[in-house]
Amino acid sequence: MHTVVVDASKQVGWIEVVCGSMFSGKTEELIRRLRRARIARQRVEIFKPAVDARFSETDVVSHDETAIRSTPVEGAPQIVLLAGSADVIGIDEAQFFGAELVNVCQQLARDGKRVIVAGLDQDYRGEPFEPIPELMAVAEFVTKLHAICVVCGNPANHSQRIADSTKRVVVGAGESYEPRCRRCFSPLPQAPSAPPSPSPTGSSVPLTASPDATSNAPDEPAVESPSSS
Ligand SMILES: [Zn+2]
Repeated sequence: MHTVVVDASKQVGWIEVVCGSMFSGKTEELIRRLRRARIARQRVEIFKPAVDARFSETDVVSHDETAIRSTPVEGAPQIVLLAGSADVIGIDEAQFFGAELVNVCQQLARDGKRVIVAGLDQDYRGEPFEPIPELMAVAEFVTKLHAICVVCGNPANHSQRIADSTKRVVVGAGESYEPRCRRCFSPLPQAPSAPPSPSPTGSSVPLTASPDATSNAPDEPAVESPSSS
């Protein structure tokens, strides 16, 4: 076990990487570390790419809706300009910043800042997704998180694409990806493992055993009820 001893008088910076598949809790872990830094009365700044506008323009928002204020930036160099006198720099969705993020993090760490970077380490094909792999190499601390494979329940290391888009960078959540383990993962888009939502078009196939009691299925019974009501 390593122990991190902070000697504020020496202003030693470092890089922490929090990586893993989608739904592995990366943003939650980033927020947890930043909250602890704030409790320690350190100055914290959080950045995320402006491209990630899934939920909010100004908050780092994770899937469990714990949120912390952040600044959207167009590119990694802006982070250096905006970091100011912060002691701790958080960077979320780091995979969208591209290769120049590596030098930015190195410079911030050399300036004595603690840099915490969260992002995907693989793309939807299971290929290393720069800049996270290079950041893992130069970081002092690396934490790899896992989701749970929705097919078999083992630790999930992959983000399985279940839509048919072939763009590498797609900002999406549950409707586009699901976590899967090495055995259940395929680089090709797959049908979702969960029961699909009712077909949006045409044929009215009666769903006799839908587990989802809250779905907006038509109320008309497939067979007229003989009961008097
Ligand atoms: Zn599996």
